[in-house]
Amino acid sequence: MRAQTMAYFDQLIPSGMVMAKEAKEQGRNVVGYYCVFSPIELIEAAGAVPVGLCATKQEPIAEAEKVLPRNLCPLVKSSYGFAVSGKCPFFHFADIVLAETTCDGKKKMYELLAEHKPMIVLDIPNSSNLEDRQGHWVKQIYRAKDYFEKNLDVKISKEKLAEVIRTYNEERKLLMELVSLNKLHPTPISGTDLLKVLWGRSFQFKRDEYTAKVKELIAELKEMTAKGEGASQSSSKRILITGCPTGTGQEKVMQVIEEAGGAIVLQESCSGIKGLVDLVSEEMDPFEALAEKYSKIPCSCSSPNTGRFELLSRLVEEYNVDGVVDITLQACHTYNIESYSIKEHLKKNHNIPLLQIETDYSDADRQQIKLRVDAFLEML
Ligand code: SF4
Ligand code: SF4
Repeated sequence: MRAQTMAYFDQLIPSGMVMAKEAKEQGRNVVGYYCVFSPIELIEAAGAVPVGLCATKQEPIAEAEKVLPRNLCPLVKSSYGFAVSGKCPFFHFADIVLAETTCDGKKKMYELLAEHKPMIVLDIPNSSNLEDRQGHWVKQIYRAKDYFEKNLDVKISKEKLAEVIRTYNEERKLLMELVSLNKLHPTPISGTDLLKVLWGRSFQFKRDEYTAKVKELIAELKEMTAKGEGASQSSSKRILITGCPTGTGQEKVMQVIEEAGGAIVLQESCSGIKGLVDLVSEEMDPFEALAEKYSKIPCSCSSPNTGRFELLSRLVEEYNVDGVVDITLQACHTYNIESYSIKEHLKKNHNIPLLQIETDYSDADRQQIKLRVDAFLEML
């Protein structure tokens, strides 16, 4: 059973393209970004429109491979291919790209992409020592503030930033309320629909309209639950997705799991709740508060990435998870290596198995993935 409100979220990305065009026509600045480390509140406080940039489809990869090596993560190749081929309207409308030094593939790709668009690259530290990170991050937040003020000809006040932080915190709380509905048996919303709501958020910038629809969706899902309706069966095995981001256009693993009868309760990844679980402090100086929130994101590019282990421990218990599927994109060394430690952690501390699926954006391995997922669900 599917909520009718999902029809709105089915159209989020196409309608976001129209909105980006309208924003430009109205003379507004547009800032594009790729990563969950991007402090989007700062963009909004600069009076600009923050937009996610296209990165999760196979289509532009051939174009990217004319310049980039083939044995590179598909997310990096797709980002570059979309941008340089003119197939990402959000990149086209962006005045500036807010990039970041995370994995090697991305930071070297940004050097090439900077030839196509003005860009600021945040220097993200690899160390997960929070004290070191905070000081480093504060400098990066102020660097971005200065860059936006100079290049967009604006001033970013503490008051405006504090106001935007409150708005985004409310949205994060609302989205976590939606995700939390999947603690129920059966799950009220499928993993692929949840992906549409969460991933689509980056491409939709009428915040009031979006949050009103999320509220409507929550209300509808609660009504469905009261009638005993859900997106899965009570007996379905409950699966948590972790690993590399899985955006719309590359959700084949999630589709295979749901077609095989598994219930995806949530995604821990960046395309799921990784950026939503922690709020920005409303008590601190707003620039330092942004630094604190973004410095804590548990990405495998940080070492050691203990926050991911802690978050997964919490989620597998709260969501009554039967098994974890770790989606690793080919040539993503950090997530690939971390998969072993995550598997051991889940086995030792929660007695929960992990299935690692290493894949790309093509459909060539769908049947092979199906065989492995069927066997995994059977074993649970
Ligand atoms: S996994 Fe890391 S690099 Fe990738 S989007 Fe998330 S925070 Fe950014
Ligand atoms: S999935 Fe891995 S290799 Fe690809 S962009 Fe993200 S961190 Fe880099």
